[in-house]
Formats: sequence, C-alpha cells, structure tokens
Amino acid sequence: MRQLVILGASGSIGQSTLKVLRQNPGRWQVLALTAWRSLDAMVRDCLEFSPRFAVMVDETAARELASRLKAHGSQTRVLSGAKALCEVAAHPDAHSVMAAIVGAAGLAPTMAAVRAGKRILLANKEALVMSGAFFMEAVRDHGAELLPIDSEHNAIFQCLPEAIQRQPGFCDLAAAGISKILLTGSGGPFRYSDIDELASVTPAQAVAHPNWSMGAKISVDSATMFNKGLEYIEARWLFNAAPEQIQVVIHPQSVIHSMVQYKDGSVLAQLGNPDMCTPIAHALAYPDRISSGVEPLDFFSVGEFSFIRPDLDRYPCLALAMAACRQGQAATTALNAANEAAVAAFLAERIGFMDIARVNEAALQAFGQQGAGSLDDLIALDGAARARAHDLIEELSR
Ligand code: NAD
Ligand code: MG
Repeated sequence: MRQLVILGASGSIGQSTLKVLRQNPGRWQVLALTAWRSLDAMVRDCLEFSPRFAVMVDETAARELASRLKAHGSQTRVLSGAKALCEVAAHPDAHSVMAAIVGAAGLAPTMAAVRAGKRILLANKEALVMSGAFFMEAVRDHGAELLPIDSEHNAIFQCLPEAIQRQPGFCDLAAAGISKILLTGSGGPFRYSDIDELASVTPAQAVAHPNWSMGAKISVDSATMFNKGLEYIEARWLFNAAPEQIQVVIHPQSVIHSMVQYKDGSVLAQLGNPDMCTPIAHALAYPDRISSGVEPLDFFSVGEFSFIRPDLDRYPCLALAMAACRQGQAATTALNAANEAAVAAFLAERIGFMDIARVNEAALQAFGQQGAGSLDDLIALDGAARARAHDLIEELSR
C-alpha cells in the first residue's frame, strides 16, 4: 500500500484529501498528518486514519494532541515544530506528499519532499511562485514527480499530450503544437459589483466565493483575482510557458477548469463540478482513475457557459501579478510576500479591500528589480518585502 503524507491536513485541501481516501479504503496508508495547531481536527483525523506520525507546528498544541491521543490508546507518534514537517515530508517510506500548507510556510517542507524525490501533489502554489526556477530545477535534479492539485493546473495537465505530462516543467509547448494555455477563473464574488463600492467590502463578503469552498486566504485572493495572478505565475513554471502563451479568461460558472489551445484550432478542456476532490483524486491515482465522490456533471442544470475578458481596473492585483511574472523571480517573490501580509491585515479588518493592491504595488516597486541568485536570497527577499508591507499596513490602518 502506498504511504501518503498530508501537509496542512486540517485545512480545506487537507480535509478534501481525507474525503477522497475514505472513498477508496485500502488504497493508501496515511504516514503523517500535519497542522499548525488545529487540535480537534487532528485528534479526530488521527483516530480515524491512524497515521504513524502527527505533526503540530505549535508546541503547546502538540503536547495537548499527544495527551489526548494517548488517552484513546492511539499509537500515533506526535512531533512538533517546523523542522518535523520537513522530516515527515522526506520520510523514506513516503510515496506521495500532499503539499497543502497555505503560503510561504509551505516552501521548506515541500522542498524537503522534492529533494527526497517524492511524488508531490502540489496545492501550495505560493511555494512555487516564491521559488520558481529553483523549485523546478530541484524537481528535475532529484527525480521528483510533480502533479498539480490547483484545479486549473490539474485541468491543463490533463489536456496536455502524454509525453509532456512526464516532465511538464521542461517541455516545449510550441513544439508540441500548443499555441496557448487558457486559464479560467470565476472572477470571484465582486465580478459584477460597482468598482467604486469595492473599497468598502468586508472580509465576510470577500470570503463568500460564489462557486468554491476554500480557506480564507485563497478566498480573498480569488476576490482580488490575485489568485489568478498566482496561478498565471504557477502555470509559467509548471508548464514552462512564456507569459504570452497564457491567457486569463473569466468563466463565471466554474465548470470549465482550464483549457489548452492547439495550433490546428482544437481546444481541449477539462470540465466538472467545482469540487477539489476531483483534482485530488486525479493526482493521487495518476495515471489510474479512481472515484472522488464528486457528483457527475449535469449539463442540463448548468445550462449556459459564458466568458468575460478580465477588466484590470477591477482587478489591479491580477495586473500586478502578470507584470511581476514578466519582470522575473524577485518580483514574484516580493509580490507574494506582500500579498500574504496584506490579506492577513484585510482579514483582521486593519486595511480595506482595495488597500491590498496598494501594499502589493509598493512591494513590487521596491523589490521587483533585485537580483536573486539563490533560494536563500529569495527567503531574505520574502522577509524584506513582508517587513515593508507591514510598515505600509501600519500607515494605512492609522
Ligand atoms: P487552509 O487555510 O484551509 O489550510 C491551511 C493548512 O495549513 C492548515 O492545515 C493549517 O494548519 C496549515 N498551516 C497554516 N499555517 C501554517 C504554518 N505556518 N506552518 C505549518 N502549517 C500551517 O488553506 P487551503 O484553502 O486548504 O489552501 C492550502 C493551499 O492550497 C494554499 O496554498 C492554497 O492556495 C492552495 N489551494 C487551495 C484550494 C482550495 O480549494 N482550498 C484550491 C487550490 C489551491
Ligand atoms: Mg485554482
């Protein structure tokens, strides 16, 4: 039986992964579950899946988890601290690692899994955006296998020729007859709102995504379309695509998860109900197909598909991310770091919704042109961009 590590098990993607495992009993053994500090979810899931290891980054939460599991007679070994995430991610018995920690915090453990040559089920797009070429080179050099979980990239992957699926990060799209990747997005909850009203939207309105149920950070990123910007950069690395080979298309129904256009005029698309269990099941079983538990798509209830060109005045964060992608690695790292700080401040009601773009733009201007010759440089740059963002947030929240 293949052994699976789930980084970020208590989150939205982590929980969907466990749902897919429940649909397919006896196919995977859970080697490790990890979370930052979500105690109740970890107690419940450790008792159900009996992983060999459970990691809590927070020490107090780890002690509490250990004592609650012990009281139930559980054999799970509880570890704590960020280093333990890397240890379980690189464990010799792990076959696949679900990388579903949110934000830059996912980079080190995901990289540890890459360096150990695992099959990486990549949900943590921020890690890839932050480290780009270094991440992809590590995948190639260590013989890791990268399967995208992000629904758009999973869709694109499924629409690519089989030969490219084996090493998508180093393929030649044009030589394979591909003219364009069409990256679809719903446009978020404010796609039809008055632009003037966006400055006053609340966190509750921003996280209420019309089609997908997700964690708070990515939900805000979907409302600003920064998420599509991250995905633009993610596609650039995952599929070795030049920025001009990627086009963002708003598709409000979220049924087409993305498309690939070929030079003979064919467009291949992957469709389905908007539920992350589908890409998770695809990546877990690849190249086999297994049940995901997702309802089959009923075209008669969908009725109509529509498409809208993104308005960059409505979505300045998307424009910034596309600009950063053209600028290069330092720009995308700085932008990602600033955005994490800005979204956290927006969720804490310290800054307004449109301030997120202001914080992001300032970081891009300050750090976008810097050189970054190593992963350590990028981690330092991430820290500097975050500090700069915090200063601006302080000013804006006065
Ligand atoms: P979430 O907030 O629901 O869960 C995040 C998980 O990471 C939790 O288990 C949490 O305990 C853990 N975590 C948070 N901070 C941590 C830290 N500092 N150190 C270690 N662990 C930490 O997030 P999510 O919506 O499941 O998203 C996870 C990742 O997947 C993100 O990168 C997101 O962009 C990506 N993604 C999510 C979806 C979705 O539908 N939710 C879709 C596509 C991609
Ligand atoms: Mg996505």
